[in-house]
Amino acid sequence: MSETRTGSPPTPRRQASSEPAPAYDPAEIEPRWQARWEADGLYHADVPEGGDPRPKHYALTMLPYPSGDLHIGHWYAMTPSDARARYRRMQGANVLFPIGFDAFGLPAENAAIQRNVHPREWTWRNVERMRGQLRLMGAMFDWRREAVSCDPSFLRWTQWFFLQFHAAGLAYRKRAAVDWCPSCNTTLAREQVVGEDRRCERCDTPVTRKELEQWFFRTTRYAEELLDFSGIDWPERVRTLQTNWIGRSEGARIRFPTEGGPEIEVFTTRPDTVWGATFLVLAPEHPAVGALTSDDRREAVAEYVERTARQTDVQREAADREKTGVATGGRAVNPASGERVPVWIADYVLPTYGTGAIMAVPAHDERDFAFARRYGLVVRPVIRPEGEEPLEGETMTEAAPVRGEMVDSGELSGTPAEEAYERVCAWLEARGAGERAVNYRLRDWLISRQRYWGAPIPMIHCAECGVVPVPESELPVTLPDDVEWRPTGESPLKLDPTWKRVDCPACGGPAERDTDTMDTFMDSSWYHLRYLSPGYDDGPFDAAEYRYWMPVDTYTGGIEHATMHLIYTRFFHKACRDLGVVQGDEPMLQLRNQGIVLGADSEKMSKSRGNVVAPDELVAEYGADTVRAYLMFFGRWEQGGPWSPDGIEGAVRWLRRVWSMLLDAPAEGGPTASPESLRALRRKLHQTIRQVTDDFERFQFNTVVSALMELANEMAKAAGEGAVGSEEWSEAASAYLRLLAPVAPHLAEELWHLRGGEASVHLQRWPAFDEEAAAEDELTLVVQVNGKVRDRLTVPAGVSRDEAEEQALASEGGRKFTEGLTVRKVIYVPGRLVNIVAS
Ligand SMILES: [Zn+2]
Ligand SMILES: [Zn+2]
Repeated sequence: MSETRTGSPPTPRRQASSEPAPAYDPAEIEPRWQARWEADGLYHADVPEGGDPRPKHYALTMLPYPSGDLHIGHWYAMTPSDARARYRRMQGANVLFPIGFDAFGLPAENAAIQRNVHPREWTWRNVERMRGQLRLMGAMFDWRREAVSCDPSFLRWTQWFFLQFHAAGLAYRKRAAVDWCPSCNTTLAREQVVGEDRRCERCDTPVTRKELEQWFFRTTRYAEELLDFSGIDWPERVRTLQTNWIGRSEGARIRFPTEGGPEIEVFTTRPDTVWGATFLVLAPEHPAVGALTSDDRREAVAEYVERTARQTDVQREAADREKTGVATGGRAVNPASGERVPVWIADYVLPTYGTGAIMAVPAHDERDFAFARRYGLVVRPVIRPEGEEPLEGETMTEAAPVRGEMVDSGELSGTPAEEAYERVCAWLEARGAGERAVNYRLRDWLISRQRYWGAPIPMIHCAECGVVPVPESELPVTLPDDVEWRPTGESPLKLDPTWKRVDCPACGGPAERDTDTMDTFMDSSWYHLRYLSPGYDDGPFDAAEYRYWMPVDTYTGGIEHATMHLIYTRFFHKACRDLGVVQGDEPMLQLRNQGIVLGADSEKMSKSRGNVVAPDELVAEYGADTVRAYLMFFGRWEQGGPWSPDGIEGAVRWLRRVWSMLLDAPAEGGPTASPESLRALRRKLHQTIRQVTDDFERFQFNTVVSALMELANEMAKAAGEGAVGSEEWSEAASAYLRLLAPVAPHLAEELWHLRGGEASVHLQRWPAFDEEAAAEDELTLVVQVNGKVRDRLTVPAGVSRDEAEEQALASEGGRKFTEGLTVRKVIYVPGRLVNIVAS
């Protein structure tokens, strides 16, 4: 569709004031415009053919789960994002603002289980319902680009990505202890385990551990690069959360030979204390435990290992908890001191951190000290605290600080604190006993889920050939419909009698499909690429669309995704870049997070509290524009806040006022406002244009709305003074509707047309800011004497230097504080201050 932009501001069609203005009726206006925009393809965003000078702008809002009704949180996330996308478009960009559904995964599946409806049916029913609810927003979604992750045309490419990762060695299979939700009957990613007491994110049940053969993605291969945020404008808070999540620490890996068992590798951030390592502690799950356990300790060790399996990581790591452990009876050799040291197991050592084994330095580590005292193990100080006598291990009552000179450390004794780290690392490396290393808290991404409602993992297990990928030509591997999809602890797909049976693609013999499905975060890692060409069959996306639209310019959504989705999607993009599938280092250049809308009681909205605000009911009562306006107005977007019934009434009054004011007909005989009044109107208009523009840039939606409210007051005042019908009034009315269009798109469109506009207000250019018009008539000058403020003067805005200096010297404060002194110098800072230097 062509982008017609009318040059001159529209004037009202109604000529005589005898004709009454129609009432503001959003229930009539909003559906009418939504249908018209859809029919006109007003929000279609296409790759331009030939010379389109407009810059592109890909505005992405996080896609919803189709788990039921759209709630106010969706509106709060999406409608201000929509307003900003509209603002960008009016500024002259070609804007893509797509929407879709994150349709696989636990939320939909759990809801289906509760209601005893097949997940597919439940999901598609919700998708249909939520499409309608999304349309109520009046957002500029380009529906032609909708993508639904459970659709076979999407699923096919999710599986295709898995195959690419597998071929590149980025997907691998490993037997591992995994977090298991006994209620959802599935493994969880670490990110899906929440709270101090480690509960399932979905159902709040405490998580346990279980050993299963799983698929992982090598996210850790990108740990270092994921710490680099230099190319992207993301909030500090998200960067910090991701940085902590990745958890980089520098230190050394040190190898301890053992007697009769494999070498034990430890990671330590304090290699300079290695001479003080008087025992090793292994996680009970460590693979060397069996080999190191002596016969007389076997029973005690087995019992302890079993007890540990029943505990959560947080219980195991809790600082205030008594540290327990058992000796394995095995011995290792400290590679620095040559001393034989006992090997213990203890549950406070986690198998997932570092190497799952630590060297214990009780003299200088509080936790190791407590453990050593409890079990009568040797405490050997190897650091002498600065300015103090050497410590005695037997008499110490707590671990000593680890800053000071190295002692009792063989040939390195006497090394000062500042050299210790480097010298010990070099010493270990020279002897092949260890080396400098970096450790990350980040783990590889666990992909497998023992659930039904997800993308089947496109792999085949053959007794002859092992694990064989499904040939790309056979994608998608779709879900069977008639299985017991209610959770039983086994993968539902495993229980299907026929689905899993397949001929091995390699040898043709009988084989079985992988019966796990993928974590739904796999789908949301690349949905923004599917939007580019949702019907495309020759690849996950059309390369021409990719070249034009990517990367995402602005991504908006909740902070709760900081460490899950927002790390996964960056990893996914970087991995795909290295596979040659995408270009560039980052998928999303700018990220902004909205806060949460709380109930009117400042509590989280919940059915049980009865404080839930349902957007559909609000739309029915007030109209979508009012709901949009109030959600933008009621607080800082990134902070959120409590819903206020009074506040929404204020938004209602504002829009009604705008409605009647802009339909005011000129008085008979023409406008009667004074030139001063008209100039004041124009000044306020251009000051508002400047502010609203700046505020949209900074995602400050609340001040966008308050500035528009203020301007409306100012215009009402001018109208009362007889401004209607003047050139200034027409300019203000036209600009007002364009400023209002992103916030209240239906109302602005209706008024635009009622005032004689031909093409849609949403095709108009954003009002231009006129600096001269915005300048104040008068300004305040500060008068200083010798740098101290002594007076303030109101002067005409165009005051000259001579006049300003003269008035300052003549001011009361200026005269009083220079009395008896000689004025040496007068300094004038234009428009701001006059400083009189006198002595
Ligand atoms: Zn659960
Ligand atoms: Zn085979």
